[in-house]
Amino acid sequence: MVDKFKDECGVFGIYGNPEASKLTYLGLYALQHRGQESAGIAAADGTQIRVSKAMGYVNDAFDDDIIAGLPGALATGHVRYSTAGESRLANAQPIVVDSAHGQLAVAHNGNLVNAGEVRDALVRDGAIFQTNSDTEVIVHLFARAKAEGAEAAIIEALSQCRGAFSLVMMTKDRLIAARDPHGFRPLAIGRLGDAWVICSETCAMDLIGATYLRDVEPGEVVIVGPYGLRSVKPYPPARQTQQCIFEHVYFSRPDSYVFGESVNEVRTEFGRRLARESGVPADVVVPIPDSGVCAAVGYAEASGLPMRMGLIRNHYVGRTFIQPQQSIRHFGVRVKLNPVRSILDGKRVVLVDDSIVRGTTSRKIVRMVRSAGAKEVHMRISCPPTVSPCFYGVDTPRKSELIAATHTLEEIRKYVDADSVAYLSLDGLTGAVKGGQSSYCTSCYTGVYPVAFPRDEAKYLQLALKLNPGPTTAAVEADHAVLSFEKDPVVS
Ligand code: AMP
Repeated sequence: MVDKFKDECGVFGIYGNPEASKLTYLGLYALQHRGQESAGIAAADGTQIRVSKAMGYVNDAFDDDIIAGLPGALATGHVRYSTAGESRLANAQPIVVDSAHGQLAVAHNGNLVNAGEVRDALVRDGAIFQTNSDTEVIVHLFARAKAEGAEAAIIEALSQCRGAFSLVMMTKDRLIAARDPHGFRPLAIGRLGDAWVICSETCAMDLIGATYLRDVEPGEVVIVGPYGLRSVKPYPPARQTQQCIFEHVYFSRPDSYVFGESVNEVRTEFGRRLARESGVPADVVVPIPDSGVCAAVGYAEASGLPMRMGLIRNHYVGRTFIQPQQSIRHFGVRVKLNPVRSILDGKRVVLVDDSIVRGTTSRKIVRMVRSAGAKEVHMRISCPPTVSPCFYGVDTPRKSELIAATHTLEEIRKYVDADSVAYLSLDGLTGAVKGGQSSYCTSCYTGVYPVAFPRDEAKYLQLALKLNPGPTTAAVEADHAVLSFEKDPVVS
């Protein structure tokens, strides 16, 4: 089965620097938060593409010898995280293939909603797939494209793909990037001297000293070669842009500019709005680090309450650790977070986080804060309730596992054991970003999906798919879809 809905990734590409693979390594380092399962770098010296991929963190995946084996002034890189499907090296990227159009390396962030359909058709036609990632579908479409030349073949291949794709690709002598017409996932262009850099987030440019110029626009394909950067817009534009609001809520690093805006500023504004909408008498504002910090700063500013670091995060926790034989209270979460009694004892605490997904972490943290002496705990969440899974590249669990999809606000409050719980409203959220609701995808908060997906995928997620009856024209290649439960959700 195609590895659906679960890819969270970071992509990076550079053209025109003799240390291309080393700079890509550094770029991936800065994008590590976008994927921790595998990392890969492909590099070209004008004659051929070489690639190295490994499971694990960027730091573990490469060393000096590996980088030295990736010569050339052109390189692309990828970090990937996937919870569904197999976690295996074959799924790591960039995917490199040899075809009638020459060699191609592909690094993809996003999810194609029609990958299953296209893949089935290709398999019926004799194609053999090596991975279960939807990115390989793009590669097969490229290899079979009738168009002359690699650039035209890429454009032809992508015209058959629906959903979310921010792609950084390379031939042996060109860097090529593309963003789907809705612009779901970010993709930024920058310069490092004479070199060009294209990557998921600008924090990767900061690390290598590159300057952010602009975003790859929704529906734009850019080709970088000896003549510089060339831009084409080969696809019919989407009815409206659908940038992922969750990039601002949680996913991107706050030191990045994403969709042309500072994530830090947007996230802080979410916090200010949250305080104005759902202020509560309290003594102290405490962020859940690191995800709640920016919103807590905004909350404290707008409420006039002091912000204190009442929870301290251990940054050195690996993915697995040895569990103690005897149970220690709150052990699982305490490895990562520890409460500061001097800040919390006897206080009415506003606890700020970016989101509640299953609710299990919030519940443990609230109890931990109480155990450090807090008199009251008020949870404040800097986005609306997460009620529907993402189909466009963010890892969210099935609808039945999302606490806000299956419980009322009061039930959530009881479950997380807080004195009150409040979320930022949808208007509050979209009012904080340029372009507002009409530029952003908010499907995880509304269940309204800008690009419909096949029924079997909805079934996989235990959902019934209802197509909105609204008007459709030839120019609208995507139907809006609404999700609802097939049967009563199971409350876990
Ligand atoms: P829980 O409610 O226990 O499922 O976990 C909520 C926490 O997970 C919040 O603090 C978020 O910062 C974090 N979170 C939310 N969405 C994601 C995601 N897609 N990937 C990883 N962590 C996430």
